[in-house]
Amino acid sequence: MKGLLGGKGANLAEMAHIGLPVPAGFTLTTEACLEYLKMGDTFVEQIWPQILTEIHSLEKTTGKTFGSGRVPLLVSVRSGAPVSMPGMMDTILNLGLNDQTLRSMIESTGEERFVLDCYRRFIQMFSNVAMNIESQKFELVLERIKQKSGVTFDHELEITQLSELIREYLDIYRRHTGEAFPQDPEDQLAMSIRAVFRSWNNPRARTYRKINRIEDSMGTAVNIVSMVYGNISDDSGTGVCFTRSPSDGEKKLYGEFLLNAQGEDVVAGIRTPDEIQSLQTKMPDIYEELLSHTRVLENHYQDMQDIEFTIERGKLFILQTRVGKRSAAAAVKIAVDMVNEGIIEKDTAVLRVTPEQVEMLLHDQFDPEGEYNIAATGLPASPGAGTGMVIFDPDEAVEESEKGKSVILVRPETTPDDVHGLYASSGVLTSRGGMTSHAAVVARGMGKPCVTGCDGIEIDLEGSRLIFPDRVLTRGELISINGSTGEVVIGEVPLVKAGLSEEVSLFLEWCDKFSALEVWANADTPEDADRARIFGARGIGLCRTEHMFMARDRLPVMQEMIISDKTEDRMEHLSRLQKMQKEDFKDIFRAFRNAPVIIRLLDPPLHEFLPDVRELKHDLEKLKDQGLTDSPEALKIRKTMEMTLALEETNPMLGFRGCRLGIVFPEIYEMQVRAIFDAVQELHREIDVKPYIMLPIVMLSEELTLLKARIQEIASLYSGADGDFRLNYRIGTMIELPRAAYIADTLAREADFFSFGTNDLTQTTMGLSRDDAEAKFLRKYVELGLLPTDPFNSIDLDGVGVIMEMAVRKGRSVKQDLSCGICGEHGGDPRSIAFCHQIGLDYVSCSPYRIPVARVAAAHAALNLQC
Ligand code: ADP
Ligand code: MG
Ligand code: MG
Repeated sequence: MKGLLGGKGANLAEMAHIGLPVPAGFTLTTEACLEYLKMGDTFVEQIWPQILTEIHSLEKTTGKTFGSGRVPLLVSVRSGAPVSMPGMMDTILNLGLNDQTLRSMIESTGEERFVLDCYRRFIQMFSNVAMNIESQKFELVLERIKQKSGVTFDHELEITQLSELIREYLDIYRRHTGEAFPQDPEDQLAMSIRAVFRSWNNPRARTYRKINRIEDSMGTAVNIVSMVYGNISDDSGTGVCFTRSPSDGEKKLYGEFLLNAQGEDVVAGIRTPDEIQSLQTKMPDIYEELLSHTRVLENHYQDMQDIEFTIERGKLFILQTRVGKRSAAAAVKIAVDMVNEGIIEKDTAVLRVTPEQVEMLLHDQFDPEGEYNIAATGLPASPGAGTGMVIFDPDEAVEESEKGKSVILVRPETTPDDVHGLYASSGVLTSRGGMTSHAAVVARGMGKPCVTGCDGIEIDLEGSRLIFPDRVLTRGELISINGSTGEVVIGEVPLVKAGLSEEVSLFLEWCDKFSALEVWANADTPEDADRARIFGARGIGLCRTEHMFMARDRLPVMQEMIISDKTEDRMEHLSRLQKMQKEDFKDIFRAFRNAPVIIRLLDPPLHEFLPDVRELKHDLEKLKDQGLTDSPEALKIRKTMEMTLALEETNPMLGFRGCRLGIVFPEIYEMQVRAIFDAVQELHREIDVKPYIMLPIVMLSEELTLLKARIQEIASLYSGADGDFRLNYRIGTMIELPRAAYIADTLAREADFFSFGTNDLTQTTMGLSRDDAEAKFLRKYVELGLLPTDPFNSIDLDGVGVIMEMAVRKGRSVKQDLSCGICGEHGGDPRSIAFCHQIGLDYVSCSPYRIPVARVAAAHAALNLQC
């Protein structure tokens, strides 16, 4: 019932149901929240009698009374949305305290210090959550009083100091609201409920929802739970634990606790908490009980759980359980382990790891070849490595990252108000806090490296200084952190991408079993092809040949070829290029033995290979100055310039490029085709190569017919040329113009395969020139909600998508088994991959680093459609 009760409420109810020790409480539903947001305060008045009935039944269960009596009932007011939004919504603890209940509680517990501690927390939380008074105002007073009394930690404050604190807190409240702190617990409760409902729309929550694509229309539930006190004595405490490590997935109880503490003390990083294992020695019975509850919970929910507990005078209470957020590495390990332990099936395991998480697995790490000195070590809170300038302020982190700088956010600890800064940084370093601190949890979710609890450093926020034992860094200086080991290094450490572990490879193989789509690679070089094969590509969906002409040793030959006006000259340059291309093809074919390799013949306009006219002019001037106006060198420059000017176009994207070039300058494509066939022939004893030749930017079936005839003619020269050698090749077309899609049935008569070039198809369908659009207005369109996302990142389903679907349908109506795939950058985007699955494509082709992501997305597409 998460939709109605929120995650927290549903799980509290469920835990109570299966007999775990949960403090008594009740839940106001998300529907109530939505109703409140529509109707306002009168709605709370309407439901007030129901709320009071529930409070009375709490009084019965606990034997305490709300707002009066010898043993007062205090409650927490906790928000809980249908999806987990850690740290985003606000909770108020110890509600029900006023001057009178304070006294009766001191009497009934005999612990004045404790009761005052509860009160000061309540005033602060209530003021902040319900009345929007900045927490900072209270923190400053707390800091001052602690300093004045020579106290380091909150729990060391004595009665007199706490009393002073409370007086000042109440003053702050009065100054800000113009009223006295509400004494009637019913008022306190009503104000708090309203505030939690409203908090659904606070900027923090909105930001979190936006980043995580969570619907704004769900609303949050409110849980009213009777208080249990971890701050009442030294055999009390509070903690957080995970049933498995959220950092690397290891199966062992993992977490932290603090004795004599309440609420969020553990995650707030106020004191660095103790590791959960030490609870085993401090309170062995409690540890065993906790362990057994965590097992029950994990088996019940069949997933790793993140559990909050509190110990009140030696009695254990479970306050919350939820599916634990985990790093990408942990997600894979837990999924694989749970299959091996027989807890879940493989399809469930596959669905438990998102494509984005797998992307994070290819995170950066310190280059093992690099040399560096470790300046400090903290806790390895979120794996991966980052390097960048030291920035202390979250807003500045955003500013610097917008300037393209890499930033490491350095804070004593982080709070939900810092999330934008975390998002903008390449890593986070905190001096305080544990593995479950706010910084750690958020960084793991974002896949950013994080080191917490680094007590070897000192952070001077006011002076903007990061102090190491023997060196002081100021804002803007470089540091590097390794969130997998906890290492902190002064200066920059070179980073390299991590490869796939055995576990991840196994997981990806499971993914492949469920997918209908194959994942191929866009690979232009033998190195790309190697990487693609290691990442599990089943073929090459796009080998762009132009990059082969761009390499330093090739470009001059290419330029000579373009500017030569005698056919023999041109042929000679072409034959040099042919030899070089042949070697490239051989390497690529070798990397993909026996798998299909789609080679696209030259696509960009020729002037892209020629130098800039301004540069040429400059060179010419120089020669003139030296009196070399008529030298052969100057002559050549002039010729190049002429050619460059002749080939210049106002709109090259729609100009003289692709198969249009191949038709007008037949020698170029002929040379490329020979290079391909020569490579195949030279390798045929070694491997069975299946070259697919692909023609770009086709708009007419006549273009295809003409070029196909030329290719076939060349191919015929190879049959029987070398014993039993037979060429086995295919000819296909890109679909990157709407017209090509409209005539897809005619094209399919000539083509063996289709490949959607969705970059150009998006440009030509939407009339957008990508670079201009992205630089000038696309972002604004997305911000205004006119477009759901940048159509160059994720396929525009209503336009481009419809055209693709039509082309597949038309093509296959002529040739049932026509192979169809996609080679635009969308081939690595999970949403687009789901769409490609729906329209029945055979493969998606993407850049090598996207392959693991695409393999997961392909499996998810198939599994999600099944269920
Ligand atoms: P969040 O959604 O941020 O986890 P919670 O509602 O869980 O917020 O509460 C914040 C903190 O207060 C947690 O540490 C939780 O365990 C603690 N807490 C909440 N309700 C109670 C209660 N009734 N008694 C004791 N501690 C509580
Ligand atoms: Mg919280
Ligand atoms: Mg909680």
